[in-house]
Amino acid sequence: MAGTAPTLEHALRAARGRIAAEDAELLLLHALQRRDRAWLFAHAADPVPADAASRFESLIARREQGEPVAYLLGRRGFWTLDLETTPAVLIPRPETELLVEQAAVRIPADRSVRVADLGTGSGAIALAIASERPQASVVATDASEAALAVARANARAHGIRNVEFRHGDWLSPLAGERFDLIASNPPYIAAGDPHLRQGDLRFEPESALASGSDGLDAIRTIVRAAPAHLLPGGWLLLEHGWEQGEAVRGLLRLAGFVDVATERDLESRDRVTLGRWS
Ligand code: GLN
Repeated sequence: MAGTAPTLEHALRAARGRIAAEDAELLLLHALQRRDRAWLFAHAADPVPADAASRFESLIARREQGEPVAYLLGRRGFWTLDLETTPAVLIPRPETELLVEQAAVRIPADRSVRVADLGTGSGAIALAIASERPQASVVATDASEAALAVARANARAHGIRNVEFRHGDWLSPLAGERFDLIASNPPYIAAGDPHLRQGDLRFEPESALASGSDGLDAIRTIVRAAPAHLLPGGWLLLEHGWEQGEAVRGLLRLAGFVDVATERDLESRDRVTLGRWS
């Protein structure tokens, strides 16, 4: 075997001793500039080109240091969309699809309604809603220009034209405007929560994860400001942590929202609380 380039299968087997098997496959495909897992297995006996082998080695080394796969690939799937995902944005998560589902059932498909997404990050929520409801006009805000650049690139890549991106905190870029529905996946982890120092979270923007001593600072800000930006009967939908359902329902009721309820994610955990402004 001396002098023979290792095959894809050899390279994968060696990597599996260092990182998770599934991650190894995704990173090898990325190093080979391919997307399709089936291709990998059909070509298992092919030699790995030298440039791909060195890219693969550096991706494995970064993964060993804990860098999230979504950042190494620069992409993550959300809803029906493949989204550019950089360290400037929170990695889109499957549980957030519940927020999109709950928004979509409250947005009629046959007329133009106004929707806002606060703290859009990669644009995941705004773009998923906009693609499901092409007649809606969506405004997405973010305090980070770097995040907005990613979100705008994602809108362009998917040819989604019914989202307008604006720079600023939560509802501040919406002065004087009212919406039929406002959705947000704000930061909701308590500052100092040990999870912030584990796994993918170590590499994500802290401003997208943590929010004050009980994790509810951003949610309080949004709940306080939202009524001035909702049309009569308009909905506010908030993602939150699985132990925060009761607290968020309390905040919404105190602010005067009605029909307040919490929806559970696929793991049966409280995840999205919503209320109507009457
Ligand atoms: N759901 C994320 C987590 O717990 C947190 C995202 C957020 O704070 N919005 O990892």
